[in-house]
Amino acid sequence: MDPRPRAAPTAVRAQLSTPDARDVMRFANVAGRASVVIDDTVVDLAEATDGRIGPDPMDIYRSWDDALQISRGLGPSSTPLDLDQLGCPVPMPRQVFAIGLNYRRHAEEAGMAVPTKPATFTKFPSSLAGPFDDVTVIGDATDWEVELVVVIGRTADRVAHDDAWSHVAGLTVGQDISDRYLQMAAGAQFSLGKSHRGFGPMGPWVVSIDEFDDPSDLSLGCSIDGEVVQDARTRDLIFDVPTLIEELSSVLTLWPGDVIFTGTPSGVGMGYSPPRALAPGNVIETWIDGIGTMRNRCV
Ligand code: ZN
Repeated sequence: MDPRPRAAPTAVRAQLSTPDARDVMRFANVAGRASVVIDDTVVDLAEATDGRIGPDPMDIYRSWDDALQISRGLGPSSTPLDLDQLGCPVPMPRQVFAIGLNYRRHAEEAGMAVPTKPATFTKFPSSLAGPFDDVTVIGDATDWEVELVVVIGRTADRVAHDDAWSHVAGLTVGQDISDRYLQMAAGAQFSLGKSHRGFGPMGPWVVSIDEFDDPSDLSLGCSIDGEVVQDARTRDLIFDVPTLIEELSSVLTLWPGDVIFTGTPSGVGMGYSPPRALAPGNVIETWIDGIGTMRNRCV
């Protein structure tokens, strides 16, 4: 790991005000309602479709083909985007999958063997939070983990690797905030240790999969108070997105609106010597190129 502080790339920071993402289709939860963000304005999907889609943000994924097609015909509205109104873009998935040790250097810093099957756990849905929500620090081992989050758009049951991307609605940014004490207590209980209230910020929105030139190679990172602590690319995933969908859907069915936290690269607090942890007052910025940046203040 390279612990030297670096500034976050300016192109990434610019996405907070969205001009670089002008024509990108972004599905959001604005004040609790299913919305499309176009040119820094908000289109309410239930209003725009006479109730055919929405107002529940989960309706976007329950009617994904309709939502995508209808949204392509929409233009900007007169309602400006207010970042403070953005909630978790996928607030109540039926299933949340999260993958541990899915980047080689992260497995090394955690002192764990590289797995031969995806190391799968859940973040309970009640832990999910909005892209600008505060994170409540628990104890002195609350850690950060930037992750690419996959949102399922079509039911996936025994899906082949080559067919996997067609079951994805879009991608978003996630923070897999982790209480390392609770995570490692009683042997290992990843699911509970990563599910404190507010431990799953996601957003700022979901970008539909067809908007990416190459959805399998995105830069992602996070900073604490401006110091870049994680900086990697998703092409370095041990189990890539199609493999995760193939493996998970060989065991169970993935439903529209389900999300997969795909794992974090190196640079988490527990990888430092001595270990680092989040403290009240810290500001976490978390980004993925082509999606956007979240900002969460620790309290
Ligand atoms: Zn994680």
